[in-house]
This record gives sequence, C-alpha cells and structure tokens, in this order.
Amino acid sequence: MILKKHYKVLLACLLSILVLLALKTGGNVYKRVSSMHSVSFNGENGNVVREGKTRLPCCKWDESVLVGPLHVNQEPIAIEKMRSSDEWLSNVRRGGQWSPNDCNSKAKVAIIIPFRNREKHLMVLLRHLHPVLQRQGLDYRIFVVNQNDTYPFNRAKLFNIGFKESQGYDDYDCFVFHDVDLIPEDDRNDYGCPSGPRHMSPAVSKFSYELISPYLFGGVTSFTKQDYLKVNGYPNKYYGWGAEDDDMYRRVMVKGMKVVRPPLVVGRYTMIQHRDEERNSKAKQLLSKGGKYIDKDGLNTLKYNVQKRENYEFYTEIEVDVAMTKEEKQLTSLKDLQVQKISNPAKR
Ligand code: UDP
Ligand code: MN
Repeated sequence: MILKKHYKVLLACLLSILVLLALKTGGNVYKRVSSMHSVSFNGENGNVVREGKTRLPCCKWDESVLVGPLHVNQEPIAIEKMRSSDEWLSNVRRGGQWSPNDCNSKAKVAIIIPFRNREKHLMVLLRHLHPVLQRQGLDYRIFVVNQNDTYPFNRAKLFNIGFKESQGYDDYDCFVFHDVDLIPEDDRNDYGCPSGPRHMSPAVSKFSYELISPYLFGGVTSFTKQDYLKVNGYPNKYYGWGAEDDDMYRRVMVKGMKVVRPPLVVGRYTMIQHRDEERNSKAKQLLSKGGKYIDKDGLNTLKYNVQKRENYEFYTEIEVDVAMTKEEKQLTSLKDLQVQKISNPAKR
C-alpha cells in the first residue's frame, strides 16, 4: 500500500518535470540558439549566452549584414545631421546605446573612450562605430570619460574609471577600451566578448598596417569583466604619454593569460592624424617595475571625482577629475605637471 502511494507520488513528479521541460524548450520562439552566434571569422568563440533575464530568445546573429572592409570618412558630421545621415545612426538611443529589439544579444558591451580635447575625432569615431556595433548585434553603450582637470592626461586611469562607472548603468559582460582617434576599417573585427584579453588594433594606418611588435597592446583592447578584474585593471600612475599599454601587457602575462588578436586584414584601423602628445619622461622607470605592482596599483586603489554624468545623443559622458595624489606627482616629471589645456566635447 505504502509502496503504491510512493509510486503515485513519483509518477506525479515525473509527469510535472516532463510538462515543465516541454514548456521550457517547446516552441521555437524561446529556444536558445547559442551555437549560431559564435564569431568564427577570427578563430575565436566570443560567445556569451545570457541566462533568463527576460523571456526573449538569444539573437541569431545574421553575419550577412556585415560589410567587411569599410570606407573611412574622416569628415566629422555635425551632431544635428548625424541621425539622418545613416540608417544605423538613426537607431541610436540617448546615451549612445542600442540593443536588438526582439532578442537577447550575445553580449552586453561597454565601450570606454578616454578623452580630452579631441572633439573632431570623437565625431568621426561615433559615425563609424555605432553602425559596426549594431551590425554585430551587440547590446552596447558608448562611454566617453572626459578628463576635466589640469593634470597630465591619464589614459589608463580613465579606462579604470569607465569600467567602474559603467557598472552604474548595466551589468556589462565585457569592455572595449578604445582610443578616440582609431576608426575601424572592417566590421568583422569582433567587438563582442573575447576569449582572452584581446588586442583589437594590430593593423593601424600610422604603422602601415603592420604589427610593429608582438608585445603591442595599445589602441583598442577588449576584456571580459572577469579578466579585467583578474589583472586589477590598468595601472593608475602613468600620467602623460606612454607605457601604460605595455604595463597592461605585462599584467596579462603575469596572470598567465595570452593576448589574442584578429588577423591583420580584419584588425585594421585608420588613425586620424594629430600632433604627438608630451611623453612621460618617467614612463620607462615606471614600466621597469610594472608587473610587480599589479595588486598594489589598479582598480583596487582607484580614486577620482565625478563632476558630471550626462547622456548625450550619441554617447554618455562621464566628466572627471582624476585626483592626482602626492605620490603620483612625485612619480611624474615636473615638465609634465605644467598646466594642461582642457575643453569639452560637443554637448548634445
Ligand atoms: N587622448 C585624448 N586627449 C589627449 C591625449 C590622449 O583624448 O590629450 C586619448 C585619445 O583617446 C587618444 C588616446 O588617448 O586616442 C591615445 O593618445 P594619442 O592618440 O595621443 O596616442 P597615440 O596612440 O597616437 O600615440
Ligand atoms: Mn593617436
């Protein structure tokens, strides 16, 4: 009798599990299609399947919308003409964000741009980058981190700030750290999540589209959130031009990771011409100790003050003062500490 009762309970359980399974997988609409959006053209599988945030299905990424090699137009378009100049640009939502309407993107990506006094470059980059990100079906937002103080420019710290600040907007899977003057020349260069720290810009016009060193890690890089945390982000103490990217390369090595790159034919960028910035004369000295300070300088010691967070039509601006410390001043040459000229990007 007791046995019979147990059988009945067991049968009921089995039946309800079967019904639940049928409901979950039944109907094409809610079926996960993770195998269909791996980015295979550069030999990596940067796939992230988002789990159960909404009942939307994962996007089937339609690679046929990709153009391949792109024409770079170095004319900046005025912001008021940008939306009507291109179908992709007309889709951008305030704050410089976009996500597919009817499906969950394979990745949520924050694009972080370090910025000071490069308004024209920003306008050129925006008109090229938004269409690429959309054609890749990414759920993204573009953050411009504007250093609005009189200290020497600190590209690396602005990346760390962008990483931290973006978390107040969404739960990003991965991060693209993007110089403002590098314009992508091929939309097959994957802005989605990388399989390891990725150097996305191995072929830059300024260097005749050649990888000038196997240790190069500047320009445009991308990290998963996990890997960026693992290396403790970028170092904070490099003020002025140079070596912060080499320091990051060392961090990646110290943590036993490998840099991945797209093929040269895909990882192509036009660098908009500009005058050279002042070199940090202490950069080499700092780099000689790079790698050793990985756990003592980075995300875990980051200090800055936000002056403003603003959603403009094609990007989100985070205006900051990088709060240079006494110790950082001692690590920077006096010449570099001369008062810097600052201005703001076009505000719309
Ligand atoms: N940058 C900036 N304002 C500056 C210096 C640098 O906005 O005054 C940012 C910008 O994103 C730029 C990046 O830092 O692309 C790298 O600096 P730069 O282009 O001078 O270095 P390069 O890679 O050309 O040697
Ligand atoms: Mn440059």
